[in-house]
Amino acid sequence: MALVFTVVMGVDGELFEHALTDLKTLKGVKLDVELTAEDLKELVSKFKDLNPNIPSDPYIQLEMAIKAVFQSWHNPRAARYRQYNGISAGSGTAVNIQSMVFGNKNEECGTGVAFTRNPANGDNVFFGEFLINAQGEDVVAGIRTPESLDNMKSHWPTIYEQLANIRTLLENEYRDMQDIEFTIEDGKLFMLQTRSGKRTAKASVKVAVDMVNEGMISEQEGLLRVKPEMMDFFLHPSIDPQADKTVIAKGLPASPGAATGMIVFNSDDAEETAMNGIPVILVRRDTTAEDIHGMKASEGILTQLGGMTSHAAVVARGMGTTCVAGCDGIKVDTEKETLKYGDNVLKRGDIITLDGTTGEVILGEVKLAEAGGDEDFQTVLGWADKYRTLKVKANADTPHDASIARALGAEGIGLCRTEHMFFDPERITEMRKMVLADTYDKRELQLSKLFKFQKEDMVGLFTEMDGLPVTIRLLDPPLHEFLPHDDNACELLGNIAEVRKRCEELQEVNPMMGFRGCRLSVVYPEITVMQAKAIMTAACEATKKGYTTMPEIMIPVVSTDREISYILPIIENIANQVLEEEGMTIEQVPYKIGTMMELPRACLRADDIARAGVSFMSFGTNDLTQSTFGFSRDDMGKFVPSYLSKGVLEVDPFVTIDQRGVGQLIQMTLEKALPVNPNLNIGICGEHGGDPKSVEFFHKLGLDYVSCSPYRVPIARIAAGQAAIKSKKEE
Ligand code: PEP
Ligand code: MG
Repeated sequence: MALVFTVVMGVDGELFEHALTDLKTLKGVKLDVELTAEDLKELVSKFKDLNPNIPSDPYIQLEMAIKAVFQSWHNPRAARYRQYNGISAGSGTAVNIQSMVFGNKNEECGTGVAFTRNPANGDNVFFGEFLINAQGEDVVAGIRTPESLDNMKSHWPTIYEQLANIRTLLENEYRDMQDIEFTIEDGKLFMLQTRSGKRTAKASVKVAVDMVNEGMISEQEGLLRVKPEMMDFFLHPSIDPQADKTVIAKGLPASPGAATGMIVFNSDDAEETAMNGIPVILVRRDTTAEDIHGMKASEGILTQLGGMTSHAAVVARGMGTTCVAGCDGIKVDTEKETLKYGDNVLKRGDIITLDGTTGEVILGEVKLAEAGGDEDFQTVLGWADKYRTLKVKANADTPHDASIARALGAEGIGLCRTEHMFFDPERITEMRKMVLADTYDKRELQLSKLFKFQKEDMVGLFTEMDGLPVTIRLLDPPLHEFLPHDDNACELLGNIAEVRKRCEELQEVNPMMGFRGCRLSVVYPEITVMQAKAIMTAACEATKKGYTTMPEIMIPVVSTDREISYILPIIENIANQVLEEEGMTIEQVPYKIGTMMELPRACLRADDIARAGVSFMSFGTNDLTQSTFGFSRDDMGKFVPSYLSKGVLEVDPFVTIDQRGVGQLIQMTLEKALPVNPNLNIGICGEHGGDPKSVEFFHKLGLDYVSCSPYRVPIARIAAGQAAIKSKKEE
């Protein structure tokens, strides 16, 4: 009846609850079962008053309820859900009609819920609660404290045994952990419902592994049972699910994990405070290269602006630091050192907690659960590796990141952003001097300094990735991320006024579409010469030490084959020159030269680009998404959330690849480039490389590899394994 009132006729369900509570107060009773038949009649007449159109005939009510269920299949929410989960509208829905049984007639009645295994840790034990003389809602409403299912063994031993047998029966039938509801009426057990049980990440892995070991499901099914995105739990600390929390705002879940700390509003403060042993959360409107030391020192990073591929998001993910980005529910004032949410203000020194897995910003300290992969997690990863055909590499910029990536199963580095190698305070000044240099000589002088840093780090990368390919991208610094902003930074570069003037000259209206990527190599080939020399010298050095090196030099932000035709010979000449000087051969250091595919024009002319002689192509899906949609990566936080909430976009295209647009460009590239050179190695290195849905799509397209930030490597491995199994099934 309540269903007819609330779902079918749209009467506010709370009104029924109020009427019931008022009556219980009036009668001086606590429980529903303490109301008499007369009381209930009174209640029914009150219910009827809530809407005079409510029919009294139960058959009419039933008919209305059935129709409402069928109609619900077509409501926009259901349509969106189906679209997201790939369920076709054609299959329709069904209605089950059950006769009512009563758990609240007397002391020989009761009701309960149970899980066939422990949903928190996956242990193979029967787990649940029941209440004597009560209806289903009483168990969840919290008015009475339910008893553990274990107590049923002594209270109703026969019923317990029946229930335990049904537990086995249902698990064997559905071959998955079940969440069941039951009622006992006059000593007789009735099963109301069974469905696959929701479970924690830990439980999902344990249940899958146990069921495979028990012979209930195959390894492939076991792998498909695990949700890749939940595997973050094993890699980062997380918010304790039992903890109370006050969420004050929600941003984008830019880098997973959870972190608690004191708010600071600038990077120097973050570094100093952290050095004194106080954990900090760095709060900024957005971040730039000037913030790297503060980001490194912080437990977590919160930004008001920027999307999933903004500077803060990309750098934090690389560092494995928790980050919530694009949190437009807050207003950050770095001058006043305040963070506003609604009418409330937080100041420097206040404590917040970030959940980088959900995007929640939480007031105060919240209990965290420690990270840690267990044996079952390793077993599942082993299954994934057995079935996947897609290789998984990592985006890593430092030897430290590379070693983490390798430990997490990366099969090489798919993207080393060389500009990130200059983020350290001592290096960034030298890098800035190079960016600001206004003559060839000044630039050459700076490049010779950068060469040393670059070569040192490259040796580290080749050493860590012994025997695996390392893809190194030529400099691609969007200038706005590298120009100095404050006087302190300017002072380190020379006369403040002169530096400011030069910065003004270099300032761009639209830096993301400005002087970056291969455009730098065309205008200042000496930069490319330095980088090619550093990479090849490092590769020779590591090879001489006994490591197997496989350098891959990648040209970014390419739009035309002519850019490749201009730059590729420069790299090739330098590479061969270094080999000769070092007395080594190409067989010893088998270097390759390739390109990023991150602009639509490059995809449209992929055959020309293949013909220009590249050995590999790597889709920079961050920039490709930006340039295909025309959505700025750094400004999308201002409008994409609205697009999502209004259903204009189904998903954030910077998170999950837009298959119909960006995906189409990728497919077109393969169709055009592979006939020209069937040996092209083709992968992706944008953030989508760690997104399970996107990984599935890349597998279907037949890419060779995905590359993602180190901590997402296990997620990508599982997603790639699942994608391979699903494709086989579809075949
Ligand atoms: C990309 O554009 O997808 C990419 C990997 O490069 P970046 O994020 O450094 O622009
Ligand atoms: Mg890019």
